Amino acid sequence: MAVALSAYSIISDKLFLAAFIVITTAGAARTKIIFDFIRRNKAGLKREDYERFDQAFFLGSLPFSITIGLMSWRLVTYPPSMESHALAVGATIGYTMGFFARNAGRPNLLIGQVTACAGLLALGYLTNPGHFGYLYAALLLGVVIANIYVSISLHKNIVRVYQAGRETEYLARYDKLTGLANRFTFNDIVNRAIEGAPETPFAILFLDLDKFKEINDTLGHTAGDEVIREMARRIGECMGETSPIARFGGDEFLIKLDESDHDAIAAMASRLLTVLSAPYPIDSNFVHATASIGICGYPLQAKTTEALIKNADIALYEAKKEGGANWRDFDAKIERKIKETRKIETDMRVAIDDGGFFPYFQPIYSLKTREVVSFEALARWSHPTYGPISPDVFIPIAEKAGMIDEIGSLMLQQACAAAAEWPEDVSVAVNVSTKQFARPERLFAAVVRALRESGLTPRRLNLEITESLLVNDPDTTRRIIQQFVDLGVQFSLDDFGTGYSSLSYLKDFPFRKIKIDKTFTGTVTSSAASASIIRAVSKIAADLKLDVVAEGIETADQERLLAGIEVECGQGYYFSRPVPQSGVDAFLRTACRARGGIVLPFIQAAAASRRNEPNF
Ligand code: C2E
Ligand code: CA
Ligand code: CA
Repeated sequence: MAVALSAYSIISDKLFLAAFIVITTAGAARTKIIFDFIRRNKAGLKREDYERFDQAFFLGSLPFSITIGLMSWRLVTYPPSMESHALAVGATIGYTMGFFARNAGRPNLLIGQVTACAGLLALGYLTNPGHFGYLYAALLLGVVIANIYVSISLHKNIVRVYQAGRETEYLARYDKLTGLANRFTFNDIVNRAIEGAPETPFAILFLDLDKFKEINDTLGHTAGDEVIREMARRIGECMGETSPIARFGGDEFLIKLDESDHDAIAAMASRLLTVLSAPYPIDSNFVHATASIGICGYPLQAKTTEALIKNADIALYEAKKEGGANWRDFDAKIERKIKETRKIETDMRVAIDDGGFFPYFQPIYSLKTREVVSFEALARWSHPTYGPISPDVFIPIAEKAGMIDEIGSLMLQQACAAAAEWPEDVSVAVNVSTKQFARPERLFAAVVRALRESGLTPRRLNLEITESLLVNDPDTTRRIIQQFVDLGVQFSLDDFGTGYSSLSYLKDFPFRKIKIDKTFTGTVTSSAASASIIRAVSKIAADLKLDVVAEGIETADQERLLAGIEVECGQGYYFSRPVPQSGVDAFLRTACRARGGIVLPFIQAAAASRRNEPNF
């Protein structure tokens, strides 16, 4: 506006007054638009609103630039003077720089503005060159070209950075392989659903393919990716547009199903399982796969996104445990059990360090003479909160959590140390988990150490193993067992009759004893079949020069019957429950006093010692 008025004072041409009016009006209109924009922006503008405002600015800015250009053109064409030149060039260059600063990233707008403004002035010089007119025009054209060049390259860079940003943002929120939401986006969706409508129930379905790892391992990752893409497509088709679906990683998918009716949720889960079990066409072949689904309902089974997903995962795990191709609802009992197991795991670690694991001993005795020939060491642990826990519970947990080696070593050490104090003809049996054989050097070192520290003769140590160890890779197992046998250690085949019960094992492995499982002993008086099996096994064992022990003798009748069918040794509650070391010591003292004609019923000594010991 000031330039227009100044120009009018130099040259009293009405054109400058008109320019003044145009600029003032345009300025007022723009100010209004800006205020309008700020006000509406507070209420939240949509993308279209931004575009409209941008367009209004664009359309407004061209006439504005043309007006400036026209003024400058007029200033240098009539009548030329120092002041008019200075004003024309000053205004044009000033504005050009201003446009450039504001619109460098919008080349279409900037080129229009600069061309209109500086171009018109250059035209003025060209049509009315005077002194240096061509030079001025060339300089101005240089300014125009430089601006165009800088603006275009700047714009390209801005676009590149913007696109890279968009791509990063996309990758942070979506899964590249399937185009589905990823876990973060899914979390957001569920969080927002819970915040927005806390009363509205829905279900989370956690889905994964059974044995996907096998597909990946056998057919390669490209085929695996293809299966995942196809899974995503089928899930999407099955669920329709309304249910958010996310890929959680690997072959895991999550679905939010807005449904509260259990039957409807179950029907949807079944439909998904059917759809996903159709063969997957991969490389002109068909891959067969099934899926499993875990379901957790909001708000009854969990109230937060995290808990919903975790519980659906627990339910999925249950579905898998039952063989897959299946869906399962979340069950709070399972969660409690998992928590318990986790607590047991943590406390187990402490107990290992604090001497919480120790053996109880149960005698193995001759059914003919009732002499005690051996004691089986059975692991005991009293949990600080849950009290005594059965080894049937904590041994599998220790095996899974990788702590069985340590517990096994502790048992070996304590059992050997105890046995070293017993009479020469009484041996000790220690149970060894199949998992301990996975690291044979460690087991070997533990046995050697226990024997060395206790001074026990290796022949008096008997390791009890189960058939499951012999099934996989029997050659390697035989080699390992032979190393122990070479050391002098003996082996028993535990729980015989419950597993594969292959008689060839008796011949192929260097066992000293077979322990007939308590399921046979328990039914020996009621089932002729059990009695026949025990008789046959005893006979074969006798031929192979193996000792037989019947486990789990609970009654006098069982004992009598077993002795009658030539079973050599027995073990069971009838004779004695497992007792602490003090019980063994008390028994051995009494037994030694009665030397010669052993043995007092062990149960008395055990009962005496049990008065002061926790009962496991
Ligand atoms: P197992 O090796 O078959 O041990 C015999 C189990 O039968 C013991 O249970 C014993 O208390 C129980 N038992 C003994 N007589 C009778 C009876 O007359 N009737 C009945 N119903 N049961 C009887 P426990 O001590 O609970 O041990 C259970 C299992 O835990 C053991 O079965 C063994 O497989 C495992 N285990 C125990 N200690 C250890 C250990 O130190 N290491 C490893 N790897 N496993 C162990
Ligand atoms: Ca055993
Ligand atoms: Ca057994």
